[in-house]
Amino acid sequence: MDQQQTSSESNKVDGSTGELLVPSVADATVTRGKSPEEIHPLARTLEEWVEVFRGMGEKPFRAKQVYRWLHQDRVFDPDQMTNLSKALREKLKKAGVAAPGQVANVHESADGTRKILIDFVHGAKIECVMIPMSPDIGVDDYDEEEEDSPKKRVTLCISTQFGCAMGCVFCASGQSGLFRGLGAAEVVFQVLVARDYLRPGEELKNLVFMGMGEPLHHYEETERSLRLIARPEGIGMSPRRVTVSTVGLVPGIRRLGRDFDGKVGLAVSLHATNDAVRSEIMPMNKRYPIAELMKVLHEYPLPPRKRLTIEYTLIKGKNDSLEDADALARLLRSLRVKVNLIPMNPIEKSNLEAPEPKQVLAFRERLAAAGISCFVRMRKGDDVSAACGQLALQSIDPQRLTRRSPRS
Ligand code: SAH
Repeated sequence: MDQQQTSSESNKVDGSTGELLVPSVADATVTRGKSPEEIHPLARTLEEWVEVFRGMGEKPFRAKQVYRWLHQDRVFDPDQMTNLSKALREKLKKAGVAAPGQVANVHESADGTRKILIDFVHGAKIECVMIPMSPDIGVDDYDEEEEDSPKKRVTLCISTQFGCAMGCVFCASGQSGLFRGLGAAEVVFQVLVARDYLRPGEELKNLVFMGMGEPLHHYEETERSLRLIARPEGIGMSPRRVTVSTVGLVPGIRRLGRDFDGKVGLAVSLHATNDAVRSEIMPMNKRYPIAELMKVLHEYPLPPRKRLTIEYTLIKGKNDSLEDADALARLLRSLRVKVNLIPMNPIEKSNLEAPEPKQVLAFRERLAAAGISCFVRMRKGDDVSAACGQLALQSIDPQRLTRRSPRS
């Protein structure tokens, strides 16, 4: 089905007020309000598994075994969980233990970037992107101290929603609005699947919530997935290797900081230094204007030596002048930040474009001269439409799409 036909204005942010017109996530994969038995098996915490097994009259130590099968061994079929009895495997199958989706396609870019298309059982096709890291790419998480690690580092960029409600005018994901948020099981599944596509000598080092969707729009699922991913019995990736990128949803930023003591990396898409321009290109700014955003960033409980990431997509004639660079430096002066400058990647439904390379360079130099640490993010994977903002909605059979439930 054509994505045009399924899109509607009602699943986007209200362009005049920035109000969210859609509920966050409410579908078969959402966890909020559910008992441990009802939560998707891949989204269950270890403690919830213990409860589930108690309810089944099974020993609590089974919880760790099953958690390991799912989150470490990436075995989703109970038949292959060989240290469990046949009877228990049958029970697990009946209780719905299965993968939440499957890989539909993998595109590989000439630069080694891999884009994985996942088809979810509850109707959503999303992409995640594996990006081989090098110091020159300017991604925030390149850690100089670990330079001598023999493994080649890969960063995985995952999606959190099918579509997006934020409506940023330069972003392909935002053009059709939101169809549904992904549940924690579907977020974690992307990380598990990506491990199958690592090459010998590569290591999944960092995780960025920078794919399709706004991770703080449905905070509970993002929070749960961060906790599941961190668990040593599972993927074991600590929050400091993870960066959550947001359009600037102020309450969500506050909760994230509080719930993880500032350990989760935070990236904020700023893209403009005054409310007039920011509201024009990012409707959400009308709800949470720059001053409010700056206040919550100042309050974010950053651990020592950590910095916030500010993303700034450079758009020709909109936000790319040297005066803009000066204003950006002034705005960020009292924050511990590094800035990722992203020359805008072209998208089909917009005439906006990147500045000339020499303007990008001049902007960067001006910002650096003002003492702001900044990088120009190199394009990765744009020959397979995997670069920032290019993850668009894939066509999907509407019968299979689990619709959002009405606003609660
Ligand atoms: N919703 C989150 C994460 C998704 S987008 C957020 O807004 O931060 C990840 C980054 O890519 C954001 O900084 C986003 O503004 C940027 N981006 C989106 N479209 C882009 C485009 N066409 N070119 C360059 N960057 C883009």
